[in-house]
Amino acid sequence: MIESFFNDFKSKLEHPFSLIWKWGLILSSLFLLALSVSPSITSYQDQQDIKNDYVQEVADIDSYLQDYMNSLVNKPAAEVRQAFQTRVTMENISLEEYLTQKHVKIQVYNQEGNLIYNSGDSVDIFTTARETGRTQNELTGNFLTYQMLYDGNEQVGYYFVSFDSQEVRDQVADEQLAWVTMILINLAIAIVFGFGIAYLFLQPIQSMKRFLKNITADNIADRRLNVTDYHGEFTEISEGINQMLDQTSDYIDQQIHFVEDVSHELRTPVAIIEGHLNMLNRWGKDDPEILEESLSASTNELERMKILVQEMLDLSRAGQVDTQYYDKTTLINEVINQVYQNFKVLYPDFDFFLENDLRRNYEIQIYRNHLEQILIILLDNAVKYSADRKEIHISVATNAVDYIEIAVQDFGEGMSQEDQNRVFNRFYRVDKARSRERGGNGLGLSIAKELIKGYKGSIFVESELGNGSIFHVRFPILNTLGDISASDRAKIDESLEGDLFDDERDY
Ligand code: ADP
Repeated sequence: MIESFFNDFKSKLEHPFSLIWKWGLILSSLFLLALSVSPSITSYQDQQDIKNDYVQEVADIDSYLQDYMNSLVNKPAAEVRQAFQTRVTMENISLEEYLTQKHVKIQVYNQEGNLIYNSGDSVDIFTTARETGRTQNELTGNFLTYQMLYDGNEQVGYYFVSFDSQEVRDQVADEQLAWVTMILINLAIAIVFGFGIAYLFLQPIQSMKRFLKNITADNIADRRLNVTDYHGEFTEISEGINQMLDQTSDYIDQQIHFVEDVSHELRTPVAIIEGHLNMLNRWGKDDPEILEESLSASTNELERMKILVQEMLDLSRAGQVDTQYYDKTTLINEVINQVYQNFKVLYPDFDFFLENDLRRNYEIQIYRNHLEQILIILLDNAVKYSADRKEIHISVATNAVDYIEIAVQDFGEGMSQEDQNRVFNRFYRVDKARSRERGGNGLGLSIAKELIKGYKGSIFVESELGNGSIFHVRFPILNTLGDISASDRAKIDESLEGDLFDDERDY
């Protein structure tokens, strides 16, 4: 429990952001940039303009005052005051009023240091400015001018001008506040749109994630994604997921049934052996006849179990050929010839016919032993289920385009349409007792089918009750490797009885 908590935590640290978060942040940032860059530049320029205009205005007023003060040199205080009050500026107000409006204060002193004129109400003591000219206070941004007054070469007084920049600073602050407000509004818009779009685009992934999270072994059989809910690539992904779920569900089903089937199949031989052992225990020790019979029956059952276990193993391996033997190829003629020859020797009381119509060497994708195994299963069955007419035909032909067909025909008991559909199922036997008598476990055709499926081939049966069956197996052609050699052809022709198939025949 603690471990799982830590693992969870670790994975959260490694992947702190889900796709929605990632894309939401990326899109929001892009939106924020797109919305804010140009207004930010404009706002910055406006602030600079306000500051520059102010500096320019200060310079203009300063130089105007400097000129004007020269005309007032040596005038008595009352006249100076009157001059400031009566001089009319461009705005049609007195100079004194104008300066007040512009937050400019001027104080004029005579050489003795007596205040001659003060434009403001209070008397500011300008102690900081010692150099003549205009200086700016770094902290406040206020300008201060200190100038001497000369009458010819004689210094007759001096004056201070102070320029209060508070109003300008307020304007700049207002501009900055407007900028921050705009950025905040843009941020809100960017977040809404960025995350909205990310959610819209990634919503299918979220719904798939939720869906998959709720899949369990119990509900996997009936839960599928609704493909029509998705669009574009997501349709394909959802189809893929559904396919995967189908396969997994089939696989789980197969596993469950397989275990049921196997235990069921093993129960009979185990019960038989148990019965015989009990019998031996009771009476067999003293009765050589019972001893003999029970031992032989038990050995037979054990032999059957061995075969059954081997066949189950074959079946389970047959399901994996597509991943393990995908690179194996086989020349078809050779294998068919060999199996045909072997069966002729094994069952001398049967007539085997090989009708080989292949004029060229065809290569198919299959592991040689597996092709042999398939042929043996079909021929074994043909032998097992033949009746009086002991005749078996093997034919090989191609549509000369994309597949090879091998057919195994017998003239035995055949099977009904219903059974034809079932014989490829695991452990299915038409007549359980008879098949068992002949050593059949009902796994041969399922093994063949699994193998053929693994190599992308197909198998089907045509049969008529009482008249025999034909099993057809088709494999895709991988390569055509030149003509069959003359000697091989002669051998094949020798065995060629009928002319059931033709190379160019249209299937
Ligand atoms: P088995 O080991 O029982 O033969 P198979 O899977 O090979 O198992 O075959 C399944 C069943 O299909 C057999 O039990 C039999 O009833 C039927 N079958 C298979 N081949 C033939 C055939 N050539 N003719 C008639 N019935 C057949």
